[in-house]
Amino acid sequence: MSAYQFVYGPVPSRRMGLSLGISPIPKKVCNYSCVYCQLGRTRGMTNERRSFYQVEALVKEFKDYIKKGGVFDIVTLVGEGEPTLFADMHDLIKELKKNTTKPIAVITNGALLYEEEVKAGLKEADLVLPSLDAYDEETFIKINRPYGTIRFDDVFRGLKDFSHEYEGELWIETMLVKGINDSEEGLQKMKELLTEVSYDRLFINSPVRPPAEKWVEQPSEGTMARAQEILGGTLINVLASEGFASGVEDHYEAVLSIIGRHPMNQHEVRSFLNSRSCDNIEEIFKRLTRDDGVETIEYKGYKTFRLKY
Ligand code: SF4
Repeated sequence: MSAYQFVYGPVPSRRMGLSLGISPIPKKVCNYSCVYCQLGRTRGMTNERRSFYQVEALVKEFKDYIKKGGVFDIVTLVGEGEPTLFADMHDLIKELKKNTTKPIAVITNGALLYEEEVKAGLKEADLVLPSLDAYDEETFIKINRPYGTIRFDDVFRGLKDFSHEYEGELWIETMLVKGINDSEEGLQKMKELLTEVSYDRLFINSPVRPPAEKWVEQPSEGTMARAQEILGGTLINVLASEGFASGVEDHYEAVLSIIGRHPMNQHEVRSFLNSRSCDNIEEIFKRLTRDDGVETIEYKGYKTFRLKY
């Protein structure tokens, strides 16, 4: 199996099992530049929805993956940016559904849920996972650093309305960043807002991977526990995912194909290579640290690798 352009993984997801990713947008095309983004800062931010790729091209790769016996529990539309900026989301999900009975999920920052076309596209999915990190305009600007014309009130109204119209599963993810949105007062405000939204599950996360801004810190364990007490939901600040898989034969290329979309820490790289019975793991680590296309980040006492873009 060769590396694909749009299909990647499957990647073990802490929430969804073995998740086969499909990315309908070019690298880091996003309408936010979140301070905690694991892909780094958003350069050239945009809020223009476009048909970046042909739906047929995306579906062709998906079909090929299935034909070659690729396994997965769920298909996730996600990218190295914001997938709702792909203008043909509606058609894409419909076409994917013709080829699988497995659920289709969309991970979104939720910025454009107030747009009818975006809502119509997402309604085709079985599971939508929007983010809600802010509770007012000020925290929105601090944490998500949105494209200039996007206002928190519109984003929240979009989420609220969508949540009442949507018939699939809606799981909200809240990323807490120390000193920005984790105060007692802030958490109470967040709780107020959540009472207006109809959702199935809530996940409370903290930046466990190297963030876009070096000053970003995880809230303390006590704060995370308090957040869970106030908001309910599930904490997902678990460090290492296990069980990465790739159909790419060459070990080094296989690691590159994953870290282009999903940074891996050294423990994850090692367990991934062990699972493939790779006998030159140290050599691969050396290549990774020497590779000009790979960024090696020291964070929390261990190395994390991600592809530069
Ligand atoms: S975390 Fe998601 S929404 Fe935020 S900048 Fe990164 S890609 Fe965009």
